[in-house]
Amino acid sequence: MENLPQICVYTSDAFITTERFGTREEVIRWIKEVVIDNKVTVIISRSDTETGKRGRSNKLIFGCYKCGKHKSTDSGTQSASKKCGCPFKIRSTPVKDGSGWKINVKYGLHNHGLPDRLEGHSFIGRLTTDEKQHVVDLTKRHVPPRHILLSLQDRDPENVTRIIKNDDSEVVREIFWAHPDSVKLLNIFPIVLVMDSTYKTNKYRQPLFEIVGMTSTELTFGVAFAYMESEQTENFF
Ligand SMILES: [Zn+2]
Repeated sequence: MENLPQICVYTSDAFITTERFGTREEVIRWIKEVVIDNKVTVIISRSDTETGKRGRSNKLIFGCYKCGKHKSTDSGTQSASKKCGCPFKIRSTPVKDGSGWKINVKYGLHNHGLPDRLEGHSFIGRLTTDEKQHVVDLTKRHVPPRHILLSLQDRDPENVTRIIKNDDSEVVREIFWAHPDSVKLLNIFPIVLVMDSTYKTNKYRQPLFEIVGMTSTELTFGVAFAYMESEQTENFF
């Protein structure tokens, strides 16, 4: 294997602070602010609470989202190449004297370049408890996701939450099916097709898209059906 040039991005300075934080949440809020200002990509890699058992103490460990180990590429998926074992690490623990949580940069170097935009980043796009409740309330009222998103942005213009489609996941998002006899009928009567969606038919809130054909004797037949993730143009292809 040839030697690739090593990229090093130094982000320690931004995270160095003597400030003490009252709670775990305050630490996370502060880190979030630094993350947004510096366009660094950080995840909470560990959040532990003291239980009295050995080895369990109050701590928060932040890592880079690329901190995962190299996965073997035998699965052949794109996600396999994303992790590059970035060593970036920040540790936060309560100070013994009770003055609050301190933040320690354990390793401030990234072994990869940083993104130009933070949009769609899962950590800073994460919702606050209030915002989550807001999403739950609107969802109960069948408000479509894009309107919920607009509402979140009205509440907080700084909100960078986006609706993310994770193309790496292996979740079934859309199903299209047609009976072979329907396909035969369609080949005979391809002139008139009626297409429409019905809503609120299933717990996944996916529209059921139905294609109906018509015979020369003015009888209708079902051509095909699909559960769709959303009704944007790309979903119809
Ligand atoms: Zn990194």
